[in-house]
Amino acid sequence: MAEDKEYLDNPQEVQDKEDEYEKVCMMCRRPESKTGKMIDLPGDIHICVECMQKSFDTMNNTPIDYGELMKNMPNVSMIDLSSLQNQIPKRQRVKKKKEQPATGQHEKVAKKVFDIRSIPAPHKIKENLDEYVIGQEYAKKVMSVAVYNHYKRVFADKADEIEIEKSNMLMIGPTGSGKTYLVKTLARLLDVPLAITDATSLTEAGYIGDDIESVVSKLLAAADNDVEKAEHGIIFIDEIDKIAKKKNTNQRDVSGEAVQQGMLKLLEGSEVEVPVGANSKNAMVPLTTVDTRNILFICGGAFPDLENIIKERLNKQASIGFMADLKDKYDKDANILNKVIVDDLKKFGMIPEFLGRLPIIFTLDGLTKNMLVQILKEPKNAILKQYQKLLALDEVKLEFEEGALEAIAQMALEKHTGARALRAILEEYMLDIMYEIPKDDNIGEVIITREYIEHTGGPRILPRGQEIPRIEMN
Ligand code: ADP
Repeated sequence: MAEDKEYLDNPQEVQDKEDEYEKVCMMCRRPESKTGKMIDLPGDIHICVECMQKSFDTMNNTPIDYGELMKNMPNVSMIDLSSLQNQIPKRQRVKKKKEQPATGQHEKVAKKVFDIRSIPAPHKIKENLDEYVIGQEYAKKVMSVAVYNHYKRVFADKADEIEIEKSNMLMIGPTGSGKTYLVKTLARLLDVPLAITDATSLTEAGYIGDDIESVVSKLLAAADNDVEKAEHGIIFIDEIDKIAKKKNTNQRDVSGEAVQQGMLKLLEGSEVEVPVGANSKNAMVPLTTVDTRNILFICGGAFPDLENIIKERLNKQASIGFMADLKDKYDKDANILNKVIVDDLKKFGMIPEFLGRLPIIFTLDGLTKNMLVQILKEPKNAILKQYQKLLALDEVKLEFEEGALEAIAQMALEKHTGARALRAILEEYMLDIMYEIPKDDNIGEVIITREYIEHTGGPRILPRGQEIPRIEMN
């Protein structure tokens, strides 16, 4: 409060200070950056268009006999609305964002690579994905085509009767193989809003947990409450295998099958009422309608045990008839997951109606040691490049011997969490480097050796002026 009083003597200063704050809607308490332009009323009262409309609607739908009302409440006087606005303390108001400098603006423009209204050909989309995602050639190809078709469908001329089917996808791949990363990269390239949810947190409406429609309100939030933008967005539902139907249970299954059932309409396209600026519906939160018909749903999961289901089917097929093969022919096949068919997923516990709404099913490969090494150094924002940039700010060169990268990849492989382990491992080794280097101004270059990673030696440190010149690979 002391802060508020400080300026009361000088009206100009009070006004200047006020200008630093955003207007807040008196009814829904959202700031102007969220609600769009507000309607200003005398007494420094602001109301957003949505709340204003709601008030009108309510008044129109509720005939009130004011005479009767006043008779019953003789002591009611008109409320002083301005006193309400003053009740919002400054610390509960949102400060306006400072104007972005020109460079910030530039970054924003550069980030948007494609325009979904004139979506580039699939090979162009894949080319861009290649810059970030290592391997997973098949997945990148399938996704590029699916996204291309999806946005073509969204903006297609609806004049004829041919309705193109929605390209919702189901991606199957081990943990840390890049499922989430692929979707994130795609959404960023296309500059469409993305909401990521975990299927395990979803429950049927009425149970404890997020109800299924909450994913749409997350997407709306990601689109800055812009309904049109949200309707062209992507929703990624991770861990979808965790809502498989449970085998042999007689109890009502709230977490699995029912959630799959509940998602059907959303996947297909329906109009959903979602709260704006909050994730639960209540009387204080305005609602808006989002149509999910053009939202691209991508589901992902590791589907443990699916391999055994596929193997069992293939082995059974192989051992029937004249051409009977060895019974365990597929037991050692590393790419067994690629041979998945819808029946295998049904057996796993996904209901047919659910699978029917995810027409594009594809798998990601488990990462090999070579791929892990590539992930360390090749993507546009590779972890190594990030560390190199950090040290370059101290004018120190950072290099990694190939053997060191292999040793790191090997350690990551043993953790069985895909590429996720890489950063954690590297961070452990880089901690000492990042701590020691700034101490000594004479250091010009640090070379991380295999010995350093394997704890049998240290990194090579070269003094300033004796750095090894290298040819830039990319
Ligand atoms: P999941 O398949 O479990 O969703 P993520 O996509 O979350 O795995 O991967 C974890 C991290 O590993 C990503 O943030 C990304 O940095 C890295 N990563 C995983 N796979 C790849 C890949 N194929 N190419 C480049 N980076 C990858």
